[in-house]
Amino acid sequence: MGYRESVTMVSKGADVTYEKTDKQLRLYVGLVVFAGFGTLGWAASRAHFADPAELLYPAIMALIIMAANGPVVRIRLRSQHRYFSSTSSAILIAIASLPGPWVVLCTAVGVLGAKLVTQRNVMKISFNVAKDTHGAALAVLAAGLFHIGPVSLDSGADPSWINLLLGLAAAIVCYAAVDDGLGNQVLAMATRTTWLQVALRNWDIHLFARVIHLAIALLAAQAIARDPRLLIALPPILLVLHLIARNMMRSRAEREDWRRLAQTIDELNVKDLSDVLRSVATQAPKLFSADEAEVELPGEGGDARLVRGSSGHFYDGTRAAAPAPAAASVIEAPLEGHDSGHDLGVLRLRFGKAVKFRESEHYKLKALASALYTAIRNANAYAELQRVADEHAYAAAHDSLTGLPNRRQLLERAEEAFDNRTDQGMVALLLIDLNHFKEVNDTLGHQAGDKVLREVATMLERGAHPGDLVARLGGDEFAVLLTGLPTPALATHRAEALLSCLDRSIEIDGMRLTVEACGGIASAPGSGGVTELLRRADVAMYQAKRSGQRTATYEHARDTADIGRLMLGGELRRAVAEHEFVVDFQPIVDLGSGEVISAEALARWHHPEHGNLSPMQFLETVERSGQLPAFADAVLEQSLTAYGMWREAGFDLPVAVNVSPRSLLDDTFPSAVLSRLAAHGVPADRLVLELAETLTLSQLEVVDRALSELRDAGVRLALDDFGTGVSSLTVLSRIPVHQLKIDREFVTAVETSSEAAAVIRSTVDLARSLHLTVVAEGVESEPQRHALWELGCVAGQGHLFARPMRSDRLLATLLRGSGGRPGALSDVLHTAGSVVRMPHRRSPGHGRSSLPHLPA
Ligand code: C2E
Ligand code: CA
Ligand code: CA
Repeated sequence: MGYRESVTMVSKGADVTYEKTDKQLRLYVGLVVFAGFGTLGWAASRAHFADPAELLYPAIMALIIMAANGPVVRIRLRSQHRYFSSTSSAILIAIASLPGPWVVLCTAVGVLGAKLVTQRNVMKISFNVAKDTHGAALAVLAAGLFHIGPVSLDSGADPSWINLLLGLAAAIVCYAAVDDGLGNQVLAMATRTTWLQVALRNWDIHLFARVIHLAIALLAAQAIARDPRLLIALPPILLVLHLIARNMMRSRAEREDWRRLAQTIDELNVKDLSDVLRSVATQAPKLFSADEAEVELPGEGGDARLVRGSSGHFYDGTRAAAPAPAAASVIEAPLEGHDSGHDLGVLRLRFGKAVKFRESEHYKLKALASALYTAIRNANAYAELQRVADEHAYAAAHDSLTGLPNRRQLLERAEEAFDNRTDQGMVALLLIDLNHFKEVNDTLGHQAGDKVLREVATMLERGAHPGDLVARLGGDEFAVLLTGLPTPALATHRAEALLSCLDRSIEIDGMRLTVEACGGIASAPGSGGVTELLRRADVAMYQAKRSGQRTATYEHARDTADIGRLMLGGELRRAVAEHEFVVDFQPIVDLGSGEVISAEALARWHHPEHGNLSPMQFLETVERSGQLPAFADAVLEQSLTAYGMWREAGFDLPVAVNVSPRSLLDDTFPSAVLSRLAAHGVPADRLVLELAETLTLSQLEVVDRALSELRDAGVRLALDDFGTGVSSLTVLSRIPVHQLKIDREFVTAVETSSEAAAVIRSTVDLARSLHLTVVAEGVESEPQRHALWELGCVAGQGHLFARPMRSDRLLATLLRGSGGRPGALSDVLHTAGSVVRMPHRRSPGHGRSSLPHLPA
């Protein structure tokens, strides 16, 4: 039995490759057909017959070949079909029974006959006829080498058995070579695969079939040699064999398909949706012999996602942007689950030509679509899970307000940087704490506070070096991990630069605020790791706060048990209850006469364990705790008591009390002050409230209200540390104070720095035009006193005159006086010219001096 395959050759498609392939295919088929005519011509020229009766056997043979070629097994390959038939065994039998040229002619006629019945396409018909003609001709030549002539139907001569075997074997090999060589090539071109890929399909069945065909031909040749009538029995035998081969191939193909389907479904078991879709789009065409496969998923915003695969192309994108499909005929399966009513999308197979699916193919497609549905659902669920996990991981490592890394991530990154510090430079940590942040929060509300924090975060991030990590530790605490430092000294430099980034004012609800911050710097310690680094930066930060500097660098020598952090709420409460807060008074002196004109109250904490603590050491903690009102009350109480005592003794000295900016945010503060004044019977104008000059203060309405209330009641206001703030003038225009206190910084430098002198002079001028008094702080020497006087400043306080002391000691000092003048602390200033005596405003009844009036 012979078998052969044939293909439908032309595919229509929009794709360029298709057209190119079409042209190549036509050319190729044309060549084969052209050569076929040559072969036929050769055979016709050699076929002689004398008697028309001699045409009987060739005619029967042609019919047998036709019968063998007709019923085919159709295997679909994409939209092409591959046909298997038993032609080869029929040709072998012809070789064994007819002269060579007749074999060729019979083949041509037989195949043509068969094809005319089954095919409509001229190109396909002519190609198949030509191919088999070539195959038959080559087989005849091969058989001729073994002298297999026509097993003389008339002569009855028996060819030797072994000769027949070898001859027919050579013939079938040659036929197969032509059949597969030419046929597979057409199939490869039409389906855009390779010759080898086609050849390897079912190769074992092919081989098996060829061997069977050879055996049949052998037996048939022997039989025909005995009785030519047996030829009649051949067609049914061929048919049975054909059916067996067909079933074998079908079930084999089916098995293979299911195996591949199972494998494909298995491969869908991946977490990533894109991988799932890619896998389906590339596997499904092979699975269903389709030209293309695509999955379409409805996307958000109406634009569907399309993933399309074929042997040569892959597309994953929006449907709108997808190239036109290469194949027009479509079989599709919705992606639907049993559990949910709606479809996830659709799986489409595209074919170059209309294709009819067998029932089993429909089942397969359904199975694949259902597996794809599950895979997509799984991938989506996994992606969601991953997203949630990522979100959690992000949230765990970031601060939700500013988006900055949080403490945890800072510690982790610091740990890493620690391990790599030798090869990537040194590591240092800058801990930043905003000053007066709580005020913003309390007065402008948390939203404004949040805005400030976000702005600060942005400014710090912008200012940071690449590689540095800016983190928010919580509240108003930020940290910057400085990495890649060539030397530790550079850390200070970078920290300063970073903090100066915060100088820019921030606009919050139409108000301009400036954030003040101070920072503590610590470089990586030898031991103790990140925790120690953080602790050191913290210590340095407190040092910066206490000393009023913008930054401080950790120094081991100054790292005593940190008092600031020991003081917790409980301790403060005890301090208030046990009257551990006491007040010292520093006299303020008329620089010209040396007479005491008022006194400033300065708080101290007599701590049972830590001894005497200065305000710098505990103020921050007090301000942050809820104990500030109690503390301020204690200071005011003691100050007014002291005032009463001095007045009793004849010294009517206004007392100046420092006020925390935070106290001014407290609604009850003004009334608390006024009621204390009333309780002590102290006139309001004998109390001076010293306000620290901060910008935040100046813009808050609560503060304005509190200050006006106090001012209207007669309380005097002084602006402390004047000149150090960023915009002293702005503050001044908002807060109507009575007095300016020139910061110690300028006084210390008054002799040496012309700039400091200029600041003092302009402050004095300003005060004069606004009718304010001026007090110089921290006067430590006679030359300073002198210089200040020359600059027009007429009042001062400082170690030159007296250190802060208890109220009773101050009274004793006042009584003792200087140079026989009670109430004076030093001699009259002897200027080059004359001594300018300051006019004194006498307090009614008692006392001596009040605030000095400025020289006219
Ligand atoms: P301040 O208002 O500028 O007070 C002047 C500071 O300078 C005082 O430091 C004082 O002891 C110091 N001082 C005075 N004369 C000289 C001098 O000639 N040379 C030098 N080097 N220093 C001098 P103290 O007492 O440590 O107070 C520090 C700051 O703490 C004060 O600065 C004030 O802002 C704040 N403070 C003090 N007592 C209170 C209080 O009861 N309430 C509030 N809210 N703040 C207070
Ligand atoms: Ca003060
Ligand atoms: Ca001051």
